[in-house]
Amino acid sequence: MAHISIKNLSKSYKNGQQNAVKNVSLEIEDKEFLVLVGPSGCGKSSILRMVAGLEDVTSGEIFIDDKLVNDVPAKDRNIAMVFQNYALYPHMSVFENMAFGLKLRGYPKPEIEKRVHEAADILGIRKYLDRRPRQLSGGERQRVALGRAIVRKPAVFLFDEPLSNLDAKMRVQMRTEIHKLRMRLQTTFIYVTHDQTEAMTMGDRIVVMKDGIIQQCAEPVFIYDHPKNKFVSSFIGSPPINLLNGRIIKKERKFFFDEGKFQIKLTEDMFTKISSYEGKDVTMGIRSEDIYDKLFAFEASDDNTVRATCEVVEPLGSEVYLYLSSGKHNFIARVGAHDRPEVNREMDLVFDMSKVHFFDVQTEETIV
Ligand code: ADP
Repeated sequence: MAHISIKNLSKSYKNGQQNAVKNVSLEIEDKEFLVLVGPSGCGKSSILRMVAGLEDVTSGEIFIDDKLVNDVPAKDRNIAMVFQNYALYPHMSVFENMAFGLKLRGYPKPEIEKRVHEAADILGIRKYLDRRPRQLSGGERQRVALGRAIVRKPAVFLFDEPLSNLDAKMRVQMRTEIHKLRMRLQTTFIYVTHDQTEAMTMGDRIVVMKDGIIQQCAEPVFIYDHPKNKFVSSFIGSPPINLLNGRIIKKERKFFFDEGKFQIKLTEDMFTKISSYEGKDVTMGIRSEDIYDKLFAFEASDDNTVRATCEVVEPLGSEVYLYLSSGKHNFIARVGAHDRPEVNREMDLVFDMSKVHFFDVQTEETIV
């Protein structure tokens, strides 16, 4: 059981980065899997290390189950942390690595053996218990690091980029394993990553950060569909959302986005919110899966169709990426596996305007 409450947390490093974390407040529910995501240097690890007690708090408060822990030493916080570099002791066997923390805390030998064997079974590393870390692959080492955290039966797991050193295939595999582990352990997790796919697939909620500040905190799909600003829209999603600059214009009581090379009509339900932007510059965001080849589109009309040159066709097996140019902007469409338009020819594309976002060019906040 652990509910974590972070209140107005800030961090400035002495003789180092000031405002690495700025006034962050978060409530993390018991058994929740919360992911902190953002580009390198945005303050994710600093938050995690302050929760772990490895770093002093500059200002603000951290509560674990209603107990203020600002001054509680790391070893008394009932937290286990897993790092990117595994931090295993090279001269100890896998068993000894996993048992070490329990030994230090004076657990009796039979209890230590029971816990290590249990954890080794969960992680499928029982046959490696006698090996040294150097005799293991990266994925196996990371399992040992997880095992060492599990045996402690902590109230909270903190993960700092635990999969970053693994190759792409192993990352995907470990992602699902951590997912299963989480279902089994029913504990609170805070997971730090710069990888938006990890965040999207693993988090109950994700916190998107930039420059030490929380940009948005919500369920992954909600963030994907309703980004709060341009940064969030472009950080979450792969390939990244297409961002096109243009201007809002009004014709016959209808609002259009004028991209320079094409004009496209906004849906009626956007009219009220966009009306104050008439004649002004805005950025339009549209995800690649919301752009269709007109030949395969259901609801094509002159109002939602755009001409563009297809410069590259990239078949990925299950889908095809089209790299397009309007003459002013480049953008990507994700179309069906069998769609193979001709390269260097103009084609018609249908934009699903019910899915687009508009951002203020000054504040970068979402308008609609
Ligand atoms: P992230 O985990 O998002 O990559 P960090 O929390 O590690 O970001 O770092 C946030 C900012 O604080 C960065 O600018 C980083 O250089 C700085 N920073 C981190 N640790 C220290 C430190 N020990 N001393 C000084 N600056 C630091």
